[in-house]
Amino acid sequence: MKRDEYYMRFAIELAKAGIGQTSPNPVVGAVVVKNGEIVGFGAHLKAGEPHAEVHALCMAGEKAKDADVYVTLEPCSHYGKTPPCADLLIETGVKRVIIATTDPNPLVAGKGIAKLRQAGIEVDVGILKQEADELNQVFFHYIATKTPFVTLKYASSLDGKIATKTGESKWITSEAARRDVHRYRHLHDAILVGVNTVIADNPSLTVRHVEGGKNPIRIILDTHLRTPLDANVVNDGEAETWIVVGSGVKEEKIAQYSGKHVQIIKMNQPKIVIDELLKVLGEKQVTSLFVEGGAEVHGSFIEAKAVNQVIAYIAPKVIGGKDAPAPIGGSGFAQMADVMNLKIKSVETIGPDLKIVALPITD
Ligand code: NDP
Ligand code: ZN
Repeated sequence: MKRDEYYMRFAIELAKAGIGQTSPNPVVGAVVVKNGEIVGFGAHLKAGEPHAEVHALCMAGEKAKDADVYVTLEPCSHYGKTPPCADLLIETGVKRVIIATTDPNPLVAGKGIAKLRQAGIEVDVGILKQEADELNQVFFHYIATKTPFVTLKYASSLDGKIATKTGESKWITSEAARRDVHRYRHLHDAILVGVNTVIADNPSLTVRHVEGGKNPIRIILDTHLRTPLDANVVNDGEAETWIVVGSGVKEEKIAQYSGKHVQIIKMNQPKIVIDELLKVLGEKQVTSLFVEGGAEVHGSFIEAKAVNQVIAYIAPKVIGGKDAPAPIGGSGFAQMADVMNLKIKSVETIGPDLKIVALPITD
C-alpha cells in the first residue's frame, strides 16, 4: 500500500541516521501516525539507550492510542538493557504495527510479532523489506555468524596498481574519493591494515575530512610485532589501537609498548589466521571491519573467503610497471574455476574517479 510505503520510507531515513553508532545493536527507525498525521517519530541512536519505538511513542504521548506505528525492524520482546518494546506498544494501546523486516536475533525472531498479535494488535510485515534488510546488513551478518561484516577497500590506478614500484601511494585517488573513504571509516567499528602499510605510509587511520566523524578502532596485523614505536597509530591517542601478533612474540617485546596507546592481542597460533582473527574480533563486539590494505592483507582475506563487500576506487591514472603492486597479493587462485566471483552492486563517479561496490556471489 502506497501510504504504508510512504511512512516506512521515513522510518528508514530515520534509521539511517544511526548507522555507525548503534553497534552492536541494529539501526531502527519508528514513526507513529494517527488520522493521517505524523504524531511521533524516533530512531535508535546508541546501544543501551532507548529504542526507536520508545522515542516515537514518547513524542506521540496520548495521541499514540489507536495509532499506526511503522517500525523498520520487529519490535523487541525480551528484557535487554531496556524493557521490551512489544510490551510498551501493547500498554500504549496502538491499533496497528507495520514492520519492514523481522529480527533474526534469536532472542526476538518472530516473538515480538507473536506477542503483538496475541494482544489483538493488527500486524503487517514486509513493507520495504529489501531496503530494511540492507540497512542492517552488518547487524544481520554479525547475529548469524558472530563475526564482523568485512568490507575490503582499495584505491587503484586505471591499470590496477595500488602503489608505484617504489611503494609510493599518496595519492592515487582524488580528495573527493578520499573523503568518501573517511565516511566509511566513521560507519565501521574497526579499520584494519597490515604492518607493512604502517611502516610504508605511517597513516593515522582516523576520520578526517567529514563532519561528525567517529574514529573506529585501528587494528594492525603484525605477526612479529614490528610496528615502529614512533608510528602515528601508536602515539597519537586519537583512537583505540589494537596490534594483533602471533603466539611467538615474547612478553619483553610486548612490554616495550606499555604506556603507549595500544593494546596487543596475541593469537593462539604463530601466524595470524584470518578466520581465527574474525572470531576474536566478534567476541570483542566488532561487528563491522573496514580492511584498507595493503595487498598482502587483502590477499589473506580473499583466500580465506572472508570478504562480504569490495569497494574499489579507480583513478584515471596509469602507473605501469610489472613491479608496482596490484590490490590483491598473496598467492592468488591458480584456476579460473576457483576465483572469487562477485556481482556489481553500484558504479558511480566521485570527482574524477570511479567507485565500484561489488558483492561476492555466495552460492
Ligand atoms: P601489508 O600492509 O598488507 O602488510 C603485510 C604484512 O602484514 C605481512 O607481510 C605480514 O608481516 C603482516 N601480516 C600479519 N598477518 C597477516 C596476514 N594474515 N595476512 C597478510 N599479512 C599479514 O603490506 P603490502 O606490502 O602488501 O602493502 C603495503 C603497500 O601497499 C604500501 O606501499 C602501501 O602504500 C600500499 N597501500 C596502498 C593502498 C591503496 O589502496 N592504494 C592501501 C594500503 C596500502 P609480518 O609477517 O611481519 O606480520
Ligand atoms: Zn525494543
